[in-house]
Amino acid sequence: MAQTSPSRYAVIGNPVGHSKSPQIHTMFAAQTGQDLVYGVLPAPLDGFRQTMQDFFAAGGAGLNVTVPFKLDAFDLTRGRQSERAATAGAVNTLWMVDGALHGCNTDGVGLLHDLQRLGADLPRARVLLVGAGGAARGVLLPLLASGCPQVHVVNRTESRAHDLVRAFAGHAQAPRLSAGGFAALADGRQWDVVINATASSLSDAAPALPAGLYAREALAYDMVYGAQATAFMRQAHRDGAARTADGLGMLVSQAAESFFIWRGIRPRTEPVLAALRAQLQAAS
Ligand code: NAP
Repeated sequence: MAQTSPSRYAVIGNPVGHSKSPQIHTMFAAQTGQDLVYGVLPAPLDGFRQTMQDFFAAGGAGLNVTVPFKLDAFDLTRGRQSERAATAGAVNTLWMVDGALHGCNTDGVGLLHDLQRLGADLPRARVLLVGAGGAARGVLLPLLASGCPQVHVVNRTESRAHDLVRAFAGHAQAPRLSAGGFAALADGRQWDVVINATASSLSDAAPALPAGLYAREALAYDMVYGAQATAFMRQAHRDGAARTADGLGMLVSQAAESFFIWRGIRPRTEPVLAALRAQLQAAS
C-alpha cells in the first residue's frame, strides 16, 4: 500500500520558539484524526518572504504568522484575502490554492468565541477596548458585527485610538464606535466588557486606567495570558470587575479557526484549553 507523508504546517515568526501553536495543533490533529505535523519556522527579520516561499515550495500546506510578520503576510496576499483579513489589515493564516497564496485573520473570531465561552452577552455589552495596535484593530469589526451596541477605544497614546476609529469611519457600524484617552474615562461611564488589547501585561504592568469602570457583572479580559492573573486582571479585580479572564482561550480559538480553514474540520477547544492551562500551572 502506498504511504503518504503527513501534511506540514508551521508558525512563522521572530522570535517564535516560545509559541504554543505546535502543541495546540498537534492536540487538534490527534483529536480529529488528521494526519499532519506542525512545527516552528523562525525567519530572519528581513527574510519573511523568502522563508515563507521556501516552506511552500518544499510542499508545506499552511502557516500561521506571528510577530512581527502579520503586516508582511497581509501585503503578500492582497486580492486573495478573506474579508476578516481585509478589515483587520493583518494576516495570521496562510495557505495555497492552485499555487497562489491566500490569507485570513482569525484573531477576531478567536476572541469572540472565547468571550461567548465565558458567557459575555455581546448584543447588550458596552465594550471598552484598551489599546490601538494590531490586536485591537483585528477585533474591532468582529466585536461590532457581534452586535455590541457600543465599542469605545482608548489608548495610552490617545491619537492612535482616534486614528484607528477614523480608519473605520465609512463602515456601516461606525456610529457605534468611538475613541478617547485614559483620563476621560473617569466621567462615570461604566462598561460591561473591558478588553485589554495592549502589551502592558507582558511587562507585568497594567494600563493607567482610572477606577470605577466596571458595571455590575462586568467581565475584564486580557489578551495576554500566563500562569497567574495578569497585572490588568489584578487591577480589574481591585476595581470591582465581577469576572476576569486571560487570553489563553483566544489563542486556542484562533488556532481552531486556522485548523478549520486548512482541514475543513472544527476541533473542540475545551480539552486543549484545559491541557494548556494545566501545563502552565504545573510549570509555575
Ligand atoms: P502592538 O501593535 O505592538 O500594540 C501595542 C499596544 O500596547 C499599543 O496600543 C500600546 O500603546 C500598548 N501598550 C504597550 N505597553 C503599554 C503600557 N504599559 N500601558 C498602556 N499601553 C501599553 O501589539 P499588538 O499586536 O496589538 O498586541 C497586543 C497584545 O495582544 C500583545 O501582548 C499580544 O501578545 C496580545 N495578543 C494576544 C492574542 C491571543 O490570541 N491571546 C492575539 C493577538 C495579540 P501605545 O500606542 O501608547 O504605545
